Amino acid sequence: MINVTGLNAFYGDAQVLFDVNFSLSEGEVVGILGANGAGKSTFMKSLTGLVKVAPESITLRGNALGGIAPGDIVKQGIAMVPEGRRLFASMTVEENLLMGAFAKRKGKWNLAEIYRLFPILQEKRNNPSTSLSGGQQQQVAIGRALMSNPDILLCDEISLGLAPIVIREIYDALPSIIADGMTVVVVEQDVMLARECAQRLYCFQEGRVALEGRSDTLTRDQITEAYFGI
Ligand code: ATP
Repeated sequence: MINVTGLNAFYGDAQVLFDVNFSLSEGEVVGILGANGAGKSTFMKSLTGLVKVAPESITLRGNALGGIAPGDIVKQGIAMVPEGRRLFASMTVEENLLMGAFAKRKGKWNLAEIYRLFPILQEKRNNPSTSLSGGQQQQVAIGRALMSNPDILLCDEISLGLAPIVIREIYDALPSIIADGMTVVVVEQDVMLARECAQRLYCFQEGRVALEGRSDTLTRDQITEAYFGI
């Protein structure tokens, strides 16, 4: 579905991604691991048009994706749950969810389905998004991305800053999202979580892919070495 070939990314003159190769097949769940500053978020932003890259370095179903505006990428079926959630602070829960529907793509996801997945959001639908707990806000961020009915869901560190029990709740929702054939990329700093949900893993180190392989065949030592560079 997505093919990334020789991807380089820059902030001004500073290069942060170097010759990254990556592939994602339909229906796959792929995990991206790496320490702080390894380039995971920049990679996700490259896939969603938030960081400009060479057009041919990323293709979606064979068509160049680099250089396309973020809103048009959502319309092509890629949605992101950004690191830090980035909810619209002045809006209610439901208004935030509805913002995700601007792409007007057809599919299963609508308000009723999001509320079925995360029932607490229905209860709090008229509350300001800022009044919710961190875990509930993360549910809104996931719901908002699903509202665009994406083919590919990109999740950037959805466990960050949450208590273990809340992380469990969030990750327990993934199977019912994936069940309908959604293709998912999960960026994680937590190796166990990534191994649990992803069939394949990529480990980023200083802007490069240091390791790639099936979750069930990569050893703990291989991952530790690629993760920390030791
Ligand atoms: P984290 O887990 O801390 O978010 P990450 O693996 O997602 O880390 P990135 O956020 O992609 O890493 O950062 C990769 C490198 O790019 C880091 O050295 C970071 O300081 C730098 N960087 C990130 N955003 C910017 C920016 N807007 N301008 C300049 N440099 C940036």
